[in-house]
Amino acid sequence: MPEKPFAVFMDRDGTVCEEVGYVNHPSRCHIFPFSAEAVRIINRAGAKAVIISNQAGVARGYFPESLVVEVNEKILRTLKSRRAHLDAIYYCPHHPEVGEAPYRLKCDCRKPGRGMLDRAERELGVDLSRSYIVGDRKSDIEMAALHGLWSALVMTGYGRGEFDYHLSQWEFQPDWVCTNLLQAVRKILMHSRRKHRQ
Ligand SMILES: [Mg+2]
Ligand SMILES: [Zn+2]
Repeated sequence: MPEKPFAVFMDRDGTVCEEVGYVNHPSRCHIFPFSAEAVRIINRAGAKAVIISNQAGVARGYFPESLVVEVNEKILRTLKSRRAHLDAIYYCPHHPEVGEAPYRLKCDCRKPGRGMLDRAERELGVDLSRSYIVGDRKSDIEMAALHGLWSALVMTGYGRGEFDYHLSQWEFQPDWVCTNLLQAVRKILMHSRRKHRQ
């Protein structure tokens, strides 16, 4: 039986796209120039490219869930026009303490919970134990550590601030610290080849 693919889970805001605060309109979503190349590298390796994003702005009433869908479609479309294929974009619109039903919810899909990882395992057949998370915030790195994935912290978005002022106190440390998503994906692919001799 062929081996299950691994996934590279990428945070959206601050990692694939610029961190601009709440993206409450598609015009505020700016994809980093290197993101398409990063996704193409994942595609060529036969791995799954998946965006995972907390979008508590929905629960907070800052924008409707349909806006999140619209922004995600823009990202899919833009990357596709650059020959980069995303296998899925998952997001959590909930918040445990803020807002109103149905979005005020103690869900399991809010990072660092494992809901979005389980969904990828189910829907894309990925091997989570061989998968990676790339992100600019503590919750991304924590998610990887809690659920047995490898992780890379990027210096885009909140990453530099996290690195300079908080990282030394974190309970969980990233496996790599990288300039940006492209460098992280290059590291990850080298690591996966060495580890699995593909
Ligand atoms: Mg982020
Ligand atoms: Zn959720």
